[in-house]
Amino acid sequence: METTDYSSLNLSPEQEDRMIEDAFNDVLNGYLRSNHRKKVEIIKRAYAFAKDAHKGIRRRSGEPYILHPIAVAKIVSQEIGLGSTSICAALLHDVVEDTEYRVEDIEMNFGKKIATIVDGLTKISGGIFGDKASAQAENFRKLLLTMAEDIRVILIKMADRLHNMRTLGSMLPSKQYKIAGETLYIYAPLAHRLGLFAIKTELEDLSFKYEHPEQYKIIKEKIEESESRRKMVYDDFTAPIREKLDAMGLKYTINARVKSIYSIWNKMETKHVPFEEVYDLYAVRIVFDCEEDANEKSICWNIYSAITDIYKLHPTRTRDWISTPKANGYRALHLTVMGTDGNWVEVQIRSRKMDDIAERGFAAHWKYKIGESDEESELESWLKTITDILKNPEPNAIDFLDTIKLNLFAMEIIVFTPKGDLMTLPKNATVLDVAYNLHTELGSHCIAGKVNHRLVPISYRLQSGDQVEVLTSETQKPSAEWLNFVITAKAKTRLEASLRKERKKIMEKGEHILARLVDGCKPEEADSVTNKLMTLFHFLSRDDLYFAIGSDKVSINEGLLKSLCKKPGPGILYKILPFVGKGKKSSEQAADTNNKEKKEIDRKKIYVLRTENGVKNYQVASCCNPIPGDDVIGYVDDNGNVIVHKMDCDTAMRIKSNFGNRLVATKWEESPLANTFLASIDVNGIDRMGILQELIHEISINMAINIRKLNIEAKEGLFVCNLDVRVADAGIVERLCKQVKKIKGVTSAARVK
Ligand code: MN
Repeated sequence: METTDYSSLNLSPEQEDRMIEDAFNDVLNGYLRSNHRKKVEIIKRAYAFAKDAHKGIRRRSGEPYILHPIAVAKIVSQEIGLGSTSICAALLHDVVEDTEYRVEDIEMNFGKKIATIVDGLTKISGGIFGDKASAQAENFRKLLLTMAEDIRVILIKMADRLHNMRTLGSMLPSKQYKIAGETLYIYAPLAHRLGLFAIKTELEDLSFKYEHPEQYKIIKEKIEESESRRKMVYDDFTAPIREKLDAMGLKYTINARVKSIYSIWNKMETKHVPFEEVYDLYAVRIVFDCEEDANEKSICWNIYSAITDIYKLHPTRTRDWISTPKANGYRALHLTVMGTDGNWVEVQIRSRKMDDIAERGFAAHWKYKIGESDEESELESWLKTITDILKNPEPNAIDFLDTIKLNLFAMEIIVFTPKGDLMTLPKNATVLDVAYNLHTELGSHCIAGKVNHRLVPISYRLQSGDQVEVLTSETQKPSAEWLNFVITAKAKTRLEASLRKERKKIMEKGEHILARLVDGCKPEEADSVTNKLMTLFHFLSRDDLYFAIGSDKVSINEGLLKSLCKKPGPGILYKILPFVGKGKKSSEQAADTNNKEKKEIDRKKIYVLRTENGVKNYQVASCCNPIPGDDVIGYVDDNGNVIVHKMDCDTAMRIKSNFGNRLVATKWEESPLANTFLASIDVNGIDRMGILQELIHEISINMAINIRKLNIEAKEGLFVCNLDVRVADAGIVERLCKQVKKIKGVTSAARVK
């Protein structure tokens, strides 16, 4: 397909105009001959619109630009078989890309459908012809699959590419290589997949011609050289078949199937065999006319039977694509027989309709529609078939998929940047994914997105075909919860890295704050305060504590700090608890000593438990740890010490029943008390950030109660806390529990029995 040098034609403007009109009328007449509805008016309008829009523009070859859209429309109509919507879109396909008109203008004049197709064509044009074309090739291929939504975009693109390939000669050589490579890589396999076999073959041969001009020439010459020998073998082989078919009264054509230059080369390359070996493996195709569709199958098998009467059948190479058509719609009966020269020959048997479909894909179906067909509904069923193939590659579809090794990326979506670049993302990817995939800085400062010009949050889940713009702010910082909004590995890694960086900054800040707070302390004291804080707030590492302080999740005030700085003093019960009386003496002996308290023990009277600092005339039982306020009972032991039990303590019960004579009634001295009694309290609730701090704040600061021990465990959103406090009496514990229960999230607080 050689291109004529347009400028050498030297046409007058009138001649040029006539040439354009002729080209368009050719498209229109072809359309009118088809079975499509005759929507001539809109096609004429689209032509006028495009002609005006491209007015004065010429292609590199020198021809008026409008000839290109007309040629594309012709391919779309006559070679692919599409209808008026596609013809209009083809005529308009470069208007938005190359002129001042916008998609909105197309929509206003030609409606939404045509505008959408033109928009799709405009969107993929940048990606494929732009500088990043090769890097985007893979994306583009996926895009085409994803955009099966309106497959006409792909089909018109295919026609566009075919025309560009046919006129590639007028391009710069550097551009030729690029376009040819791309065509072989993307368009030819895609044409195959769509069942556009004739287009596929032409694209391959054209690409091959530009990529390997030498080999192309050699193979072409060899084909011509071997022509006569091939013709001889072919005539020998087909003569007896013709005889039989004539006798059957069939109307048919029989052809040697011509292998394309590219496929010969491809086989030579992949199988490492010389031209002769590839070319000798030839095939014959029989195409018969058939009035009734119902007879197709039996005629095929009759021909099969006739051929096997003449030639020896290869036992395992019969392919019945009639009973079970290929997933792409291919139907035919193939058999392989031993030829006269001892070579295997493949024979393909097809009806005319089968042949049309095989060569032109599903588009050929239109030709067989009775009456005027509707492009929309036809496309829909075609689309469904293709979508089904893409979604469920069944065994039948495998050879179809094999050749091109395309996977279906159903779990992926394609989005566009405002510049028209493509990005492939996993399904459910968000605006934040896009931001991080573009650049770490964009991700870290992302505040929102604009999807198809509409403002959306960073967590917005994208759809295939969305145009995504990332909005950023200088002051934005990444946060840990963003991890929920990213699903791509790249975004996750980048976000985690920026979180670590951010965390380090916050930790340093926290460490500084803490260092300032414990400034006055001795180094070892400062160290112990830090450890105490970790225990208090349940942090496993210093870094965690620093981070919590730095991010204001934990605030440490003077009061808390002071209480932590305090060394364990005389408040701790088990250490300072004095015996009542110093010696081990009987009560009588005790009475003899100067210990007035002992002497005065009169079991008939109520024994007053004194609780002033340091003055304790009793011993609390370790089994029940009574505190002032509790109902208590005293027991005078062998040494004359009064041991105080809670009234309902188990041990006390036993004593009461066995040593009634040793009991002494007791009551707490009513006086201001020091916080010297140990009480254990359980607090339960719903875990949340900062609850421990509030708990501690309430108890240590607000109520000024000394916490001696604290244990907290969080599990599945709940926490269980046990704390030992030193209090003056039971009333304080009750108040404490009441106050603690007011803290948000606390569900229960009670003294441990
Ligand atoms: Mn174009």
